Amino acid sequence: MCNYCSNVKELEIFSPKDYEQTIEYIKELINKEGFIFVEGTCEVGEQKKNGLWVADVIHHIIKCPKCGQEFFCAVNTYRGGGSLKKRS
Ligand SMILES: [Zn+2]
Repeated sequence: MCNYCSNVKELEIFSPKDYEQTIEYIKELINKEGFIFVEGTCEVGEQKKNGLWVADVIHHIIKCPKCGQEFFCAVNTYRGGGSLKKRS
């Protein structure tokens, strides 16, 4: 973790709306802050297809462009919970 990514917000996800907002935040980190998309269940922002979640558990990993610290976002769309967290 470095000065650059210490500002990344860790978020708890309790509802589909929370998740949409978290995805928007991840997109912002990638598009405006230069964070790198490492891997995920689908492309960032494509978590729904024809109005349905693409999987029961959806995850995305991004990393800091300066120090490589990874951040992991996972959500269980079935139960409706998840989080965006620093990966240790
Ligand atoms: Zn960093």
